[in-house]
Amino acid sequence: METIYSADWLLPIEGAPLKNGAVAFESGRITRVGTSAELGAGRRFPGAAILPGFVNAHAHLEYASYTGFGDGLDFGGWISLHLQRKLALSFEEIVAVARLGAAECLASGITTVMDASFSAASPRACSELGLKAIVGLEVFGDDPDAALRRFEELRAIAQPALSDKVRLGISPHAPYTVSTEVYAAARELGLPLVTHLAESADERAWLTRGEGRLNALGNVLLPPTGETGIRALARAQAIGTGTVAAHCVDLEPDEIDLLASLDVAVAHCPRSNGYLGCGIAPLTSLLAAGVRVGIGTDSPASAPSFDMFEELRTAVAFARARERNPQVLTAARALELATLGSARALGIGDEVGSLLPGKRADIAIVALDETSLLPWEDAQAAVVLGGSPERVVLTVVDGETQYEKGEFEWDVLRSASAAARGRMLAGGREARAVER
Ligand SMILES: [Zn+2]
Repeated sequence: METIYSADWLLPIEGAPLKNGAVAFESGRITRVGTSAELGAGRRFPGAAILPGFVNAHAHLEYASYTGFGDGLDFGGWISLHLQRKLALSFEEIVAVARLGAAECLASGITTVMDASFSAASPRACSELGLKAIVGLEVFGDDPDAALRRFEELRAIAQPALSDKVRLGISPHAPYTVSTEVYAAARELGLPLVTHLAESADERAWLTRGEGRLNALGNVLLPPTGETGIRALARAQAIGTGTVAAHCVDLEPDEIDLLASLDVAVAHCPRSNGYLGCGIAPLTSLLAAGVRVGIGTDSPASAPSFDMFEELRTAVAFARARERNPQVLTAARALELATLGSARALGIGDEVGSLLPGKRADIAIVALDETSLLPWEDAQAAVVLGGSPERVVLTVVDGETQYEKGEFEWDVLRSASAAARGRMLAGGREARAVER
């Protein structure tokens, strides 16, 4: 049976905003989009806008309880603290944290996430919570055989949770912790590949000159190669279509051209880059070069939340500040980047990212009643400037309601995640290897 939702505005992303818009869906797919006069009002959401669910192009659900950890540390010290603290958790505790992460994504109107998973806990959390995901299982090191063995171990853990909705990927962590040979072996698997590239000036300083502040990583840090990650990986054809590179803050012009010519997509994570003092990515130059760019929240370890609205506001503010031009990233363009842009970056733009008949019924409804943003001036700007998880009333994935404000059971999720956080803060005295 067809379900119809209507609201003050419908923001299809592909197509102009529709006043008094409505969307109809059945069996997980959108069937019709139009005005409520055309479709019927169905369930009406007053003071609200209906938009496609956000596609979060980069996240680590397993770090949902890491908010504020290592705040103010330099990049090397910050990563090293996480590597040490997360060893204190059992696999079940990591699942508990990832469940909260998946819930917070849904509450932020996110319907698909590209996740990087250290322990293979996040596929289970996504499957249980009904969040669509591509999960890159993380590998490290300089030995391709060892990295692929680790990947197979993680894949076995993830396997029961994998489905059409929760898909497998691989995530070689970063060029200073993963050799070009391991990247090449990962790419040969033909899976979606997520990595961290050109995140900081320290990364460039280490890789090209053996300098900078990544030393805190200790034995996880690989020797310098004499060139940046993008250049080395491009030469080895170890990145290309199907690769999503998170961050890409510290880029030289020829590296932007390399990303474009290789069809490497970028996950822009401006809050993470800002909080870690890494800088502001050259978003307008990447877009001008034709790079597919999506928006990612990264994780609370840096960002410090899965709030996509905060991410959008930061993207807008940073882009305008960097270019000293208020017109470089409109609210409408920012919304497009976090929906269709991210979907295209992940290679799933034909299925999700906009409200068109035939696409998956992945929908977020944001109510701005009881705010100073009504009466409406520009619905797209209102959603970007005034949206927040508190104002998301409904998140629908494949036609099924996975989050409804006021109906969601937060208590158990939050207390289990808080218990895991407490164990990490206890100092890792009980640190042990991750259970399998
Ligand atoms: Zn990341």
